[in-house]
Amino acid sequence: MKTSFYSYSLPELRALFEAQGLSATGAAKLYHWRYKHRAPASGNELSKATQSYLQENMSFELPEIDRVQEAGDRTVKFLFRLADGKKVETVLIPSNRKYGICLSSQVGCAMKCSFCHTGLQGLSRNLETHEIVGQLLGAQRWLSEQRPGKDRIATVVFMGQGEPLHNFDSVRRACEIFLSQHGLSFASDKVTISTAGYLPGLVRWKAEMPGVNIALSLHAVEMKKRDELIPINARFPLDEVLAQIDQIPRNRKRFVIYEYLLAKGFNDSVEDAEALGEKLKGKKAFVNLIPFNPYPGAKYERPTEEEARAFKAVLDEHGIPTLIRFTKGTDILAACGQLNSKPPTG
Ligand code: SF4
Repeated sequence: MKTSFYSYSLPELRALFEAQGLSATGAAKLYHWRYKHRAPASGNELSKATQSYLQENMSFELPEIDRVQEAGDRTVKFLFRLADGKKVETVLIPSNRKYGICLSSQVGCAMKCSFCHTGLQGLSRNLETHEIVGQLLGAQRWLSEQRPGKDRIATVVFMGQGEPLHNFDSVRRACEIFLSQHGLSFASDKVTISTAGYLPGLVRWKAEMPGVNIALSLHAVEMKKRDELIPINARFPLDEVLAQIDQIPRNRKRFVIYEYLLAKGFNDSVEDAEALGEKLKGKKAFVNLIPFNPYPGAKYERPTEEEARAFKAVLDEHGIPTLIRFTKGTDILAACGQLNSKPPTG
């Protein structure tokens, strides 16, 4: 059976070539062509032996695009069909003339967050590295064809379906490919992994993850409320998660991003904001406030803009840089926690 080229970091590909008696420099050339030129290596770049090895043993297939939905604000949501027929979603989020891409790391998710459409589906399986990298390359190819000249993907976030740290190895390798200078050459501060607080992955992060940004879905400081929103909080309590994040070495300028979903009348009071300000005291924190984006059958409501601003004002007083994120692409359900989902029926 052929293995996917897009599952190999460059050191792994070099090692594979060497083990096959092929020139390791061919690995860097192949990487360069596939990722920089987005094309097969030209005729005489690779030896005959390398070419025939690739032909027999390696696949360069990308996930197929099953459906594309374009929102009025230029957000694009892709449904990709994987080789086994399972489907995952990926979203391109416009920002000036560029895009950020929101990737999925699993088919479904085991974390069961109460505000999340994906969480309702349960976990089907982990994505392989090539299925993660393939989402970016497939979206890039679509952009280059459909919106030439305005097709640059500048940032990557793991904020789609799945808990990325629950699929640590594939996500780590995908990040290595994104950061590789011979690969996609993203700067490390342009790649962000968002976690619900999956502690076993955070414990591994320090020694194994390349220097990408971390974002924590914090969402509530009071334990009962956080238990309701993010059930894994009962196994991996917030204070242990925060302590673990504090141990991850970071560039001096680097902030940890704390995501806070604002659900009207649930976690959006001035007292909740005060508790958050106290919890993040002394940390290099950046807070994203996300007013809940309701979907049919959802159990939470969206606060008014005024209520969101009142919450932000408290964090401002605590000196914590904070942005209110008014979600994009809501007309195609592309907002956080709403991927690969149909509105519940009945
Ligand atoms: S919010 Fe993220 S971690 Fe929680 S259930 Fe949804 S996809 Fe999983």
